[in-house]
Amino acid sequence: MATTTKHFVAGEWRAGEGSTMTDLNPTTGKPLAEFPIGTKEEIDSAVTAARDAFDGGWRDATPTVRRRLLLKLAQLVADNAQELGRIATEDMGMPWAFTMGEAIFTAEYVEYYAGWADKLQGETIPLSAPNTLDYTIHEPRGVVAAIVPWNAPLSLALWRAAPALAAGNAMVIKPSELAPLPVLRLMDLIAEAGFPPGVVNCVTGTGPDTGAALVDHPGVNVVAFTGSTLTGRRVAENAGRRLIPVSLELGGKSANIVFADADLDAAAAQAAVGCFINTGQQCIAGSRLLVEQSVHDDFLERVSANARTFTVGHPMQPTTQMGPLISERQLERVLGFIEGARADANVAVGGERLGGDLAGGYFVPPTIVSGVRNDMRIAREEIFGPVLSVIPFRDEAEAIAIANDTDYGLAGGVWTNDLSRAHRVARAIQAGTVWVNAWLAVNAQAPFGGYKSSGIGREGGREALDVYLQTKNVYVQLR
Ligand code: NAD
Repeated sequence: MATTTKHFVAGEWRAGEGSTMTDLNPTTGKPLAEFPIGTKEEIDSAVTAARDAFDGGWRDATPTVRRRLLLKLAQLVADNAQELGRIATEDMGMPWAFTMGEAIFTAEYVEYYAGWADKLQGETIPLSAPNTLDYTIHEPRGVVAAIVPWNAPLSLALWRAAPALAAGNAMVIKPSELAPLPVLRLMDLIAEAGFPPGVVNCVTGTGPDTGAALVDHPGVNVVAFTGSTLTGRRVAENAGRRLIPVSLELGGKSANIVFADADLDAAAAQAAVGCFINTGQQCIAGSRLLVEQSVHDDFLERVSANARTFTVGHPMQPTTQMGPLISERQLERVLGFIEGARADANVAVGGERLGGDLAGGYFVPPTIVSGVRNDMRIAREEIFGPVLSVIPFRDEAEAIAIANDTDYGLAGGVWTNDLSRAHRVARAIQAGTVWVNAWLAVNAQAPFGGYKSSGIGREGGREALDVYLQTKNVYVQLR
């Protein structure tokens, strides 16, 4: 019998009072744990705990206190990277080598925001009015609701928590029902780091029940949502009704553009990694590969060769590069996209569910579909699986037009050795991040977020703090 997890509220573990749900291991399809579906009352207790912590001292905690707590947390995350990685791997299937790396990378992210805690100064503003002093103060907003997905459970929770806490807010985190365990383990580290009870709370549950109750709770001052565009729209509508700010990090259908003059070997290697890593379950997957016609066939062979080298298997094995998809539902969805494309395009690599030792899990190998047109479903919708659509283009103008012909705008890439073209195309791509001769590089210091239906607001860099702060202007009449 799988153990039943608890909610983390006001610094203590509390048993859920409503129904429970089973958390499955996607590698085996077997149960890992039962977790409670947070009720409205439990959400109310968590928001109340956060409010009490905020009003009861956290809002006045000095910047040094916040910095030190975040530094301590960063250290604990790094020290426990192996265990955090193992929990995440069992819960969502990303290979252990990568989930450990994710924990180390995330610890650096937390360190970076620890550094912001004592640098949130305002400005003095020279007014034209005589004998005045005018200045701004940045203040925390209060209680942040962070609703996060499963595809990088630890880092996506901490990408929200680190800037929110550095800015002095308290929070309630709702992890995904598909992989709640890494965030629950994180709560132990939050307590160990010494954050006062109630500053960070975690309530597990489903989106429509627990997530929606959190967004609707009148005590929540900001919603920080990471997830699909469909859900993001709903969350923003509900938050909009209450006129509270939202930060939305949503889906993508990013175009990776390869020109004939590029370093084709480097581009092919990164095109494969950029789409297939984490089994394609990443918002920044370079899922549309745009290749200049003159090198199309050669390049397709190179990417295909790279795709075939991926070791797909049990994610706890150190040599595994690609684990399973998150769920049976997602497996069926991914296979559905591939089947749907067969009539009009060519499945050049992969395309079938893997059996044998892997039959119990949800395994699909790297899949490359060539001869794709940008108006096909496979090129328009976010698949969230290891499926790369290859689309040829004639010239720069056509490449830009295809890249931008999408509802999404999370990332884009350009591979070329022509300096002017690199910058021209980088400017023309309508996306929050553009990589030149690279893919997947995300850094704490740099802003990350979406144009168009890929989101509102930024994570990373100074900009991530904006949604968690409000600016007060103080006007002083000097006598
Ligand atoms: P999802 O939208 O199904 O769920 C995300 C979270 O929202 C979960 O915790 C879920 O329980 C909750 N939720 C669902 N319905 C809700 C509702 N009505 N009210 C409040 N909360 C609700 O997404 P997912 O399948 O967990 O994650 C995959 C998606 O996340 C992909 O689209 C991916 O591109 C996106 N994503 C974006 C980023 C980014 O930074 N832009 C990062 C990672 C993932």
